[in-house]
Amino acid sequence: MAGLLRPDWVIPDIQQLDPAFLRQREITTLLIDVDGTLKTYRSRNVDQQVIAWAEELRRAGVRLFLISNGRHSRIALIASQLGLPYIARACKPFPFACWRALKHLGGNKKSTALVGDQILTDVLAAKLAGVKSILVGFPGPNDGPWWAWLIRPLEFPLYRLTKTRK
Ligand SMILES: [Mg+2]
Repeated sequence: MAGLLRPDWVIPDIQQLDPAFLRQREITTLLIDVDGTLKTYRSRNVDQQVIAWAEELRRAGVRLFLISNGRHSRIALIASQLGLPYIARACKPFPFACWRALKHLGGNKKSTALVGDQILTDVLAAKLAGVKSILVGFPGPNDGPWWAWLIRPLEFPLYRLTKTRK
């Protein structure tokens, strides 16, 4: 069970995922969570640096796809800022959205990673979908919604478990 909650890699910031990092780990497709990963929870937009980061990866041949549990209208706006395909209301940790995205992109599981800021949604979804998991920015900025605050106390012990087992 703990294996389902253990990310393959833990990074402080999404922009650390540069072409060299991904090439080294043979990742060519990134499924990306939105809130707390590409932007803070409260922000309605992605920063210019994040747009430049996505562009750099795309130029390097990395396929990108947004997978968020957030509302369609909100995630559509972010996706249009980045020019990326997306699935909103993805129901992570269920893996179905990951599989749909992979089908759309024509990617394979072995060279795909799901990047996100939450263990119980993003890491678990990645493991259930059979792709690699990258945990980013944990525990994230202190601007999460009420449910994130409820989940955090559960996530901290899990996070320590992943750290010590690694
Ligand atoms: Mg998130």
